Amino acid sequence: MAKHPAVFIDRDGTLIDDVGYIKQSSEVSFYPFTFEALSVLQEHFLLFIITNQSGIGKGITTTEEVSEVNKFILKILKQQEIVIYDTFCCPHKTEDKCDCKKPKTYFIDKAQQLYNIDLSRSFIIGDHPSDVQCGLNARITPVYVLTGHGQMHRDELNNGVVICSNLLEASKHIILEITRHE
Ligand SMILES: [Mg+2]
Ligand SMILES: [Zn+2]
Repeated sequence: MAKHPAVFIDRDGTLIDDVGYIKQSSEVSFYPFTFEALSVLQEHFLLFIITNQSGIGKGITTTEEVSEVNKFILKILKQQEIVIYDTFCCPHKTEDKCDCKKPKTYFIDKAQQLYNIDLSRSFIIGDHPSDVQCGLNARITPVYVLTGHGQMHRDELNNGVVICSNLLEASKHIILEITRHE
């Protein structure tokens, strides 16, 4: 069976505005370019969301609230005919030393097994150096975006990491990359 390339996408600061720990769907604000970016990407890749939601571990949000917010995001995306194959959420705070918080590769590995993903042709897009590191740890290609926390943490990146202004530019970059290698 043929393996599928995937794009793993961060949630806050990448797909939607990062406004802190989101408790309800009314706080969700999609970036204006998110739908176009995902429409382009899903023609070539299976799409996944991987999100660190330490607000749960800190007692600021609950698992139920975060899960409702994620469902809402998927519903809006579906209305735009965008299919997210799975959403993976780490509820832990850093001190918990869990196995699933990015930059750990737990959810990428899980997706690889569940959906037969070809990691050598896969990407991760995010606005935090931990997203980039997660991609490097999983041996997939990271693309850093300057929305959300991107601008603030830009100096922490190692040389050679691809930096795009936002998710749409990142998607264009990725499409260019794969057509160059076809
Ligand atoms: Mg983020
Ligand atoms: Zn975790």
